[in-house]
Amino acid sequence: MKKIYELTAFEIKEKIASKELTSVEVVTAIFNRIEETDGEIGSFVSLRKEKALEEAKIVDEKIKNGEKVGALAGVPVAIKDNMVSIGEPSQSASKILEGYEGIYDATVVTKLKAADAIIIGKTNMDEFAMGSTTTTSIYEKRTKNPRDLNKVPGGSSGGAAASMAADQCYISLGSDTGGSIRQPASFCGVVGLKPTYGRVSRYGLMAFASSLDQIGPFTKTVKDAALALNVIAGIDDYDSTAEEIEVPNYLDSLTGDIKGMKIGVPKEYFIDGLNEGVKKVVNESLEVFKSLGAEIVEISLPHTKYAAPTYYVLAPAEASSNLARFDGVRYGHRTENPANIEELYVKSRSEGFGDEVKRRIMVGTYVLSAGFFDAYFKKAQKVRTLIKNDFEKAFEQVDVIFTPVTPGPAFSIDAKKTPVELYLEDIFTIPANLAGIPGISIPAGTTDGLPVGIQLLGRAFGEREILKAGDAFEQALKERV
Ligand code: GLN
Repeated sequence: MKKIYELTAFEIKEKIASKELTSVEVVTAIFNRIEETDGEIGSFVSLRKEKALEEAKIVDEKIKNGEKVGALAGVPVAIKDNMVSIGEPSQSASKILEGYEGIYDATVVTKLKAADAIIIGKTNMDEFAMGSTTTTSIYEKRTKNPRDLNKVPGGSSGGAAASMAADQCYISLGSDTGGSIRQPASFCGVVGLKPTYGRVSRYGLMAFASSLDQIGPFTKTVKDAALALNVIAGIDDYDSTAEEIEVPNYLDSLTGDIKGMKIGVPKEYFIDGLNEGVKKVVNESLEVFKSLGAEIVEISLPHTKYAAPTYYVLAPAEASSNLARFDGVRYGHRTENPANIEELYVKSRSEGFGDEVKRRIMVGTYVLSAGFFDAYFKKAQKVRTLIKNDFEKAFEQVDVIFTPVTPGPAFSIDAKKTPVELYLEDIFTIPANLAGIPGISIPAGTTDGLPVGIQLLGRAFGEREILKAGDAFEQALKERV
């Protein structure tokens, strides 16, 4: 029999609703699991055991009394350290926010609470979500890949991915600006969904690049991703970019039937640098889709090669502006005994930000500066439109686009990669953020014992199609084992 922590969010939700398990039992099992494993894995940077148990008791009471409960009643959920919650540490893994506690709840937190989910704590990440390894975090804790402790979990939502892979919770929310949900999901062998830009409110998510950031769930199954999206999606008075588009019941789209579905495979994604093991898993996955009756169509996304350079102009530009608010006056770290106000700003920021964040602020202010704005920022905005147009054209032909998630599997924690080498690893995930479309990473196999995911991209607000295709694929893989 499966242990409580091994079950899916959906199974747990059902067992709590039918009173087979209480939320208190589930939350207790989860904290025991965290206590046993997190010394080694390092997924969490803060935990709220006492409060979680109290909340679980209330949910159990409601269920006992036959009161109406929410869609995630009693289910333990984790959130990334860059999402604020009232009275709790919310630090974006940065020294500049040392000791900072949220003074309001992010909309996703409000929605989770309204669904009676139990928030158990915050997960580790790269500082301000800038990175692909979770090693730029200020916390001493190093997050490891639960599938191989010598490997990185990916990033920036590495703690969230690890928490799922290590069965430390049932849903873990991350954020994805250029791949930070899909890449760690692929590295850790779990499902990671980046919704359409505007599907989920960003209110209370500490901004990295506001036109690219989206919150999404890590889960064990595609079905759980649909369940989580049902809860967190929708409009929000506090975020004007959260679109007024009806939230369907995403679980209803999981019919298992994808006969005749047109799946596009962009030739530009099968580059020379693609790892042989990844290539093998990707090709085998295409065969699975064929066997399910999907039609595989070769497509072209001609501007793909410009996606990474475009992103690494636009994301730092937006970051440099967003991070200007951290000035040592209003939040977190403040330098000691500054001689004057200018020194207060300069020293607080120099001491508070890590190297990668500083690098991005410098690149960002450079590309936004009067002399270079046209050459870099404006040009990048134009290329962004071309990339978006590529997808729009492709979606006239196909329902879903299939690609690898990363060029290779998780790499060593000790790998000495240069920033540019790391940036280039994001080539398959970045285009979806630039185009604002949804993407999901689904475990598809292994190479040398390390997980490999595949990515499905959909039309804007086409989460239903990618969830449907992903779920059918996942079921087919399960039957093969
Ligand atoms: N790895 C990318 C970066 O460093 C993506 C990060 C993210 O999606 N938050 O910017």
